[in-house]
Amino acid sequence: MAVALRLESIERRYVQGEGTLEILRGADFVVMEGQSVALVAPSGTGKSTLLHIAGLLEHQDAGEVYLGEQGTAGLPDAERTRIRRTDIGFVYQFHHLLPEFSALENVMLPQMIRGLAKREAAARGKELLGYLGLGKRLEHRPGELSGGEQQRVAIARAVANAPRVLLADEPTGNLDPHTADHVFHALQQLVEATGLAAVIATHNLDLAARMHRRVTLQDGAVVELA
Ligand code: ADP
Ligand code: MG
Repeated sequence: MAVALRLESIERRYVQGEGTLEILRGADFVVMEGQSVALVAPSGTGKSTLLHIAGLLEHQDAGEVYLGEQGTAGLPDAERTRIRRTDIGFVYQFHHLLPEFSALENVMLPQMIRGLAKREAAARGKELLGYLGLGKRLEHRPGELSGGEQQRVAIARAVANAPRVLLADEPTGNLDPHTADHVFHALQQLVEATGLAAVIATHNLDLAARMHRRVTLQDGAVVELA
């Protein structure tokens, strides 16, 4: 299997009034294609920061982020944006679906932004939503869906352009345990079926136990857990 994502010696600090917060201090992290990794660490340790840097949503202060073989630190913003659109899917704790659009349209939009014809985007959207158990919810708007359904639509949207890497920041953080379980199961199936690499920040140890690997953040470094 090939490397999907590699973080190398990532440093990130925030200037806070008088002092400086050293959040990431030489973090190294490799995720292979088809691998799911749980990122389990206390609040405030830098999980979101790490995911944002891996997703090219935020710049590191030092170090390199590789998507596959491609290094990204020195690239112009337009090129980083292009890579973000093609190689990376992001899922947040709150779904951020567009309320005026149906589930299907929410999954079609990123594909159409990338230049796909409407008909193809619809076909892929239906396939993905069906796969995530939402085949009967295509025309529902987000407000007409349950929390778990909304999150599954958000996952479908995140993978609509067949990214190499899926990054999810506490995607089940505001769901009840049963629903969270359902969403995780859907995510796992997607990883198995597509060779996607997934990194999922979560506080749920039961769910983390089902992923291929578990890592934590310790003193600004990524540390492998058993
Ligand atoms: P986690 O997701 O693990 O809860 P975060 O990555 O959100 O942690 O944040 C790590 C630390 O960095 C926190 O102490 C947070 O307050 C701080 N932090 C995050 N973003 C910023 C920012 N833009 N400016 C200053 N401090 C920040
Ligand atoms: Mg966070």
